[in-house]
Amino acid sequence: MCGIFAIMSQRSIGSMLHQGMLKLQHRGQHAAGVFVYDPETDAHLLHRTLGYVHDLFPITSPIAEQARWGIGHIRYATMGSGALQETQPQLMRHPQTLLAMVHNGNVVNYEALKSELQQTSQAIGGGSDVEVILHLFAEALTESPLCFEQICQGVLRVFERVAGAYSVVCALTQGGLVAFRDPRGIRPLFYGVQPAHHAHAFASETEALFALNISEIQSVAPGEVIFIDARHQVHRRELLHKPHAHCSFEFVYFAKSNAVMENREIYRVRSELGRLLAKRVRQAHITADLVVAVPDTARPAAIGLARELGLPLEEGLIRRTHVGRTFILPKQGEREQACTYKFEAVPCVFRDKVVLFVDDSIIRGTVSRKVVHMARNAGARAVYFCSTFPPVRHPCFYGIDFPSKSELVAHEKTLEQIANEIGADGVIYNDLQDLREAIGIEDLCQACLTGVYPVDVQRSASCEPQPHSSLCGIRSRTEALSGPI
Ligand code: SF4
Repeated sequence: MCGIFAIMSQRSIGSMLHQGMLKLQHRGQHAAGVFVYDPETDAHLLHRTLGYVHDLFPITSPIAEQARWGIGHIRYATMGSGALQETQPQLMRHPQTLLAMVHNGNVVNYEALKSELQQTSQAIGGGSDVEVILHLFAEALTESPLCFEQICQGVLRVFERVAGAYSVVCALTQGGLVAFRDPRGIRPLFYGVQPAHHAHAFASETEALFALNISEIQSVAPGEVIFIDARHQVHRRELLHKPHAHCSFEFVYFAKSNAVMENREIYRVRSELGRLLAKRVRQAHITADLVVAVPDTARPAAIGLARELGLPLEEGLIRRTHVGRTFILPKQGEREQACTYKFEAVPCVFRDKVVLFVDDSIIRGTVSRKVVHMARNAGARAVYFCSTFPPVRHPCFYGIDFPSKSELVAHEKTLEQIANEIGADGVIYNDLQDLREAIGIEDLCQACLTGVYPVDVQRSASCEPQPHSSLCGIRSRTEALSGPI
């Protein structure tokens, strides 16, 4: 899971690129990178760093100040070593153009494709799965000048060969911006325009576009390619149609509460998931005194549950805002440590009370275990833990970092065993029907809940995502490339 933002304008895009990327910071904390391009002078710049978007900007370079096109990436590392060379954008020089590409998702047959492509290219092997998409796409660009038909051929080639989830934006110097989404549309990607500046933009979430007054926002359809050429003409085509399988975890956890996906407002979806949990609480004959949200993602659900049960919603946990999302940290030790610093209990809220905690999900149990322990230490009489997402019992191979069953707290466990694992008196989950009802669309990926994978993960049998190590190596680099890449 990562964040991507791209913009092409007739004015300088530096501050818009920065602002758009800041709005997507919650989608990754490992690295950030940009490629900017000025079509007037044909000058470009690649700048990447390990860390946050604020570690990347400002970029003090005349090229960055004059650039009219830019693509940015916020990395949530789910594979590789975490080194700077794996970060995006990734570049490739081509006889007709220089290509810079970013993607959000995970290529499940990366290892197999990498071995195959290494037979003909020495540039493969940097450890980032976007490189195989980049090479397959570029191989189809055989004629000069570049045209939309060639670009469609390149994207079709990617669709035929690459298994997994991928939402992609690619800048082709002197050519334009290309965006496409895998044929099942597992990861989100949005497109919008700002007529006043003749600007076109792409982003992983709508808020990054709304914040820049970009309007006419719409989803890039699964299997669709959009090409904005150098004269700002828009070309688009749906190349391949397969049943849609939008990641259901995006609605529950990853997207921000003010986002809109598949025409569904995320806040409403989460509030409804909380309302539906009330039925489960009643079925379990739990009589609670109050509801407490695990901040921040679960707040709308906690409001929905408290309202439905007629219980007070209390701020029992203080979240230290300088600690980012713990779930997307790369190592379990780091997640445990960050959790300890991230939350503090408010003792008077918990003392002598029966508490209903609400969180978006229970994946490894790191957060749930920690806050249950805090509530007990603060004097709670009983602690129940509610999850809006059903039990996660299967790995995700499409860009969320839980690639093995063994780390999932719910794998092959009963509800009672899960409660024991996290130290709670009971756990309450929504079921699959509740999830579908709250999201309001049927075409969802639910593979981590059901074990039924919309894209064949057997194709990746020899190349399952490798656990990544902690961040290492060079932390930041700016490059104005003139030689071979
Ligand atoms: Fe999302 Fe789960 Fe599907 Fe992964 S397996 S894409 S987390 S719904």
